[in-house]
Order: sequence, then structure tokens, then C-alpha cells
Amino acid sequence: MRRNRRVKIVATLGPASAAPEMVERLFLAGVDVFRINMSHSSHDGSKTLYNTVRACAARHRHPIGILADLQGPKFRIGEFQAGRVNVPAKSIFRFDRAEVLGDSERVFLPHTQIFDAIEPGHNLVLDDGKLRMRVIEKSDVQIVTEVITGGMLASRKGISMPDTLLPISPLTEKDKQDLSHALKLGVDWVALSFVQRAEDLHEVRKLIGDKAAILSKIEKPSAVTDLEAIIAASDGIMVARGDLGVELPVEKVPGIQKRITRMARAAGKPVIVATQMLESMISSPMPTRAEVSDVATAVFDGADAIMLSAESAVGQYPTEAIQMMDKIAIECEHDPVYEAILYATQTEPLPTGADAIAAAASAIADTVQLGAIVCYTATGSTVLRVTRERPGIPVIGLTPVESTARRLSLVWGVQSILTGDPENLSHMVRKACRIAFEEGLVKPRDGILITAGVPLGSPGATNMIRIAFVDESGAPIAEDV
Ligand code: PGA
Ligand code: MN
Repeated sequence: MRRNRRVKIVATLGPASAAPEMVERLFLAGVDVFRINMSHSSHDGSKTLYNTVRACAARHRHPIGILADLQGPKFRIGEFQAGRVNVPAKSIFRFDRAEVLGDSERVFLPHTQIFDAIEPGHNLVLDDGKLRMRVIEKSDVQIVTEVITGGMLASRKGISMPDTLLPISPLTEKDKQDLSHALKLGVDWVALSFVQRAEDLHEVRKLIGDKAAILSKIEKPSAVTDLEAIIAASDGIMVARGDLGVELPVEKVPGIQKRITRMARAAGKPVIVATQMLESMISSPMPTRAEVSDVATAVFDGADAIMLSAESAVGQYPTEAIQMMDKIAIECEHDPVYEAILYATQTEPLPTGADAIAAAASAIADTVQLGAIVCYTATGSTVLRVTRERPGIPVIGLTPVESTARRLSLVWGVQSILTGDPENLSHMVRKACRIAFEEGLVKPRDGILITAGVPLGSPGATNMIRIAFVDESGAPIAEDV
């Protein structure tokens, strides 16, 4: 089961895609990682989805990643007497601690932390960016604002504070329960919503340990400010353009997307571009030209993965949306301009053995025109360093660790295969040749490059490069063993 593209596809599961035959169809159409949105899944529901995906992976003997996306601290206002009120621009509107139904002048705000952290001059954004207010005065019990952009405001709408750093953990009580449930199931990736600073990650890492890899969703201005440290503390990154475009002016999102993608690539951490990629396909079998171009941008930028949300979760055309992403990605990766754009953002290797080997692997593969780079890996870290170079040929990660194989399903250009540790050097070469041959990556007389750590089976010690050529039967040509 080999994909004909380097960029990976993440699809969100939901009512439109939860049935086992749909999961099967979406996998065959190109999904590499399935996302379970914990905001909308019951524990029973996510368990069923989990088992469905694992059954599909077992049937195809192909590692499929599962990403559990935690809701995070999403704030809501209280309720209005009338259900909704009109709040005109330039009027004064108050948020307070009085637990009584609101009117066109005030509403209850049930989150004490906001009263502590907000300052005059800060903005408040309501209902996905439809209304905007600026704080003119605040106390422990009320926040007085001037309405900048007015409109209708209904009970329980979302409220965000783009300028305010809140003294809160990125995990709510609901998130903690969802997290413990997801870890018990055995998900491969956990996504954290509304990460504000790198310390958020340290706290969550203590709870997760090495049970799952941690992905930070960048959707707060404060996260954009602390990007470098957040990337360093995370295993992967998501450009969560939905909330990012609420908390910041939408016209800033494309530049930030490029910056995040570039920095994550440089760090060798997988990066997903997410939200509204093929939004119109929720109700139309064909995307807009602008959406096609948006997917293409992420591919040309060398993002690790592109993601579908509502398109695959609740849309009318989930299979078509995945087929469309697949086609766009393949076409872009074969475009004559692709390599020039992709390599325009190369970064220097770090002065470490792993990076020296990764850079050398890429250079050797180019010089000798090899068919594949085969990495023996336990944790996946060597594969990440190799693929960070965005080599021009497929990267195969051979690992005896199932969770490593599944985590790598999110990573650009990597095909991971579960296989036992080789017994000795000659076995290592034979096995790598056979797998590359069986996967159709090399023809007789083609070469592969192998990286491994010797002594074999010792994690974290990649220290060896080997070139081997295959014969008609997929075995190494004798003099190379
Ligand atoms: P969400 O995250 O779909 O969980 O809100 C993605 C985004 O905000 O873009
Ligand atoms: Mn979001």
C-alpha cells in the first residue's frame, strides 16, 4: 500500500465518515492519519472510531495514525433574557459576575480568570469574529467595553481575548478526562488547542509522558509570539487557521502560516496546515479554484500534512474531498517548479551526528541516484532528521516499534514499515534491500542508502551509512554484503 505523494493527508472523522466502510473508503482514497475531534465525540463514540481505524490498518497491514484533538479552553458568555440582543457599534457593553440573564447592556461572564487577566485597551472577540469590543475599564466584578464592530449576539456564544495572556492551563477538566480516555485507547498523537506558551507543553508532557506524541495547535497570538520555544517543546505543530483567523486579522494568517511551516520544517517537527482547505466541498463535489490553490500552497511550502475538518466529518463529499487533495498534491509534487520552491527554504544541519548523517544521506542519494533511503529507527528521530532535508527520493522507516510506525504516518515523505530488528549487518542489508524491492521503490541494479545505529537495536545512536544495490530477486548484489 504505497502512496504516490510525499505530503500526508489528515481527515477528521464525524457522522459523515464514521461507518467502517467509510473509514475503509477514505483510507483507500488517501488518508494517512485520522483525527478524532474530542469536542464532538463521546467516549463511546471515540472508542468505536479508534477500533474502526485500527481494524482497517490491520486489514491492510499499513500503519495509520490516530490524532485525538482536545477541545481546550474555549470560553462562552452567559445567557440573554431574550435569547439574543442587538449590540450596536459605539455603544457601551458590560460583562460581569452577576449570574442573571443579560440584556443589550450587559451579560454574565462565567470565567473569573478573564477578569483577573484582562486590561483596558485589550480586544474581545465574540461569535467567531463577528463582533469586536475594546475594554475601557475593568474591575474584579465587571469589564466595561466599547463596541467596535456591533451585531446580533446570542446566548452562550464563544468569546476570545486575543491580546490577553490568561493564567490558565491548556487543559480543562473535560480535556483531562478526554486525554486520559484517549491515552487508554492508545492514540498516536494528541493535539492541544489554544496553546499560549511553551510552559503549557511542559505541564502536559508530564501527564502524557511517552504514551503519545504531542501536537500544538497554533491559534493564539501569544503562541505566534512564543513560536520558537513552542515548536521546541512539541512533537508536531498545527496551523489552526480557523481560530487563528478569529484571534488575529485574517489577512495576517497566510504570512503566519508560511512562518510556522518554515520554522517547524527547520526544527524537523511535522507541521499540519488545517481548516477550510476545501471548505466548499462540504456541499459541492468540486472545490473552488482558490481552495485548490490553497492546498497547493501548503504542498509547495513543504508542509508535512494537509487536513480536512468539516469536509470529511460532516460534509456530503468526504471521499471526493480526499481524492481531490490527493490529486492536487501529486500534481504539485510533479510540477517542474516544485523542487525549486521546496528547496528555497532549506536550513543548515545542526552540528550533531544524526544531522551529519541525514545531510550526507540526502547528498549521497542525489549524487549516486539511489532509489530510496532506508532508516532503521526505534524512536523515529533519525527519520525526522533525514526527512527534514526533504530528500528527492522516498524515505522508508523500518521499526520494530508499532507506535513509532504510526506516529511517522504524519511525516512528510516517510513510509514506515513494522519489522523486527536485524540480527547482524548482513541481515540488515538484505532486509533493507528486500523491503525496498518489494515495495516497488527499486528495480534490479538500483541502489538504496541505509542508515542505522550499531550495535543494532540500541536506540538513539544512528552512526552508520551503507549503500547497497539490489539484484533481480531483490537481494543485495553479492559484493555489497
Ligand atoms: P478546531 O481547530 O477545528 O478544533 O477549532 C482548528 C482551527 O481552529 O483551525
Ligand atoms: Mn481551533
